[in-house]
Amino acid sequence: MKNPLVLYNTLTRKKELFEPLSTPFVGMYVCGPTVYSEAHLGHARPAVTFDVLYRYLLHLGYRVRYVRNITDVGHLENEADDTGEDKISRKARQENLEPMEVVQKYMNSFHRAMEQLNTLPPSIEPRATGHIIEQQQLIEKLIEKGYAYESNGSVYFDVEKYDSKHSYGILSGRALEDMKANSRPLEGQDEKHGQFDFALWKKASPGHIMRWPSQWSEGFPGWHLECSVMSTRYLGDVFDIHGGGMDLIFPHHECEIAQSTAAHGHQPVRYWVHNNMVTINGQKMARSLGNFITLDELFSGNHKLLSQAFSPMTIRFFMLQAHYRSTLDFSNEALLAASLGLQKLMAAEKTLAGLKPSETSSTDVKSMAEGCYEAMNDDLNTPVAIARLFDAVRIINPVNDGKEQLNEADIKELSAVFRTFVHDIFGLMAEQGNGNGKLAGVITLLLDMRQEAKARKEWSVSDRIRDRLNELGITVKDRKDGYDWEITS
Ligand code: ZN
Repeated sequence: MKNPLVLYNTLTRKKELFEPLSTPFVGMYVCGPTVYSEAHLGHARPAVTFDVLYRYLLHLGYRVRYVRNITDVGHLENEADDTGEDKISRKARQENLEPMEVVQKYMNSFHRAMEQLNTLPPSIEPRATGHIIEQQQLIEKLIEKGYAYESNGSVYFDVEKYDSKHSYGILSGRALEDMKANSRPLEGQDEKHGQFDFALWKKASPGHIMRWPSQWSEGFPGWHLECSVMSTRYLGDVFDIHGGGMDLIFPHHECEIAQSTAAHGHQPVRYWVHNNMVTINGQKMARSLGNFITLDELFSGNHKLLSQAFSPMTIRFFMLQAHYRSTLDFSNEALLAASLGLQKLMAAEKTLAGLKPSETSSTDVKSMAEGCYEAMNDDLNTPVAIARLFDAVRIINPVNDGKEQLNEADIKELSAVFRTFVHDIFGLMAEQGNGNGKLAGVITLLLDMRQEAKARKEWSVSDRIRDRLNELGITVKDRKDGYDWEITS
């Protein structure tokens, strides 16, 4: 491999050589969803981005502990100044459910969508409500060290005090003085000493459903606190990668840095990696604009902006066609194009599997894998890696038509490039008829084993596999160079 992996670090604003704290181990924390509504496009982008980073690190041989939390308390409606109702409490009130029913319902929906998108599950998926005690312990520590104060039963982080010793705003490139100069004091914030102080613990109002006892009041933890606590708990007080959407840089990640640095005396994260946002037909996605699309609506085509259903693999492929730090604009046309592109790529792989080797090769395939690795090592440049795969497609089809030749070694090499990049790293699966991806994988595995049995002339085994699949409604058709299958009932 020519170049080692380089990642863009939001903290230093440059691409940096990725060197884990203690190779081969990598600790990665990614902010997960607040589970109060159906999974949507905004959830899919970080999930796919960090899934590809996770898969690539695994492919490079690292042992990765990937932690992605579930926010099930403390995320208030007005994120910027932590006021308003808790998002989960509000949904519980609207739907007349217990808050944990809301959490379970939308967490299940999120998991289903993530499985359809073929994202690997994280190694640990901690929940904020499962770490209330640790959050209270961190608050005590911050009060002890003079970085937090109690006010009327709530506890706030003292941003001014922190800024005097460390520097608040280093991730987002903001200075506290400028922030103060550019904003008016908000009303109803008398509990706070400074306007940019943020809540570590909120005293619950009488109607608030989610509440825990504490030495300060019956209340609940602030949103930013959970990620500091859970990342430290599972990855230590310094870890390699922290990921999330760019919209989380301020205030969420800035507050995480402040809390952890105040508590431990040093910064918590070595590489901050942020994915850019999703737009719909050039506009920000928002319920109020009527362009909000859930993943179920995309997968079923049941939305006024869509002309048809788009499969999870099409969505995944579409996301990988853009670099993760660029905005990604969804439109029906762009999805149609992505769908065709993916079909072309998958068809070429099938063709590749059936190619007849020649004695010699008329074209060079050696640089294909190298080109893919170079692109991925350059801050996960998936669009360039995909372009290299399409260079391969442009070789495969003429070989199949007899206009070019590939020898056996080169066919093997190309097959390995497809397997590694299309499947292992990009996580794209062949989608067959009405079968889902996992089922397709199992059927293909069985039929590959049947081919091997046939090659050994074990006819009873090969017949049994075919007949049993037939009984299950999966029709197998033998071809000269392999097989086809479809789900017929
Ligand atoms: Zn977070």
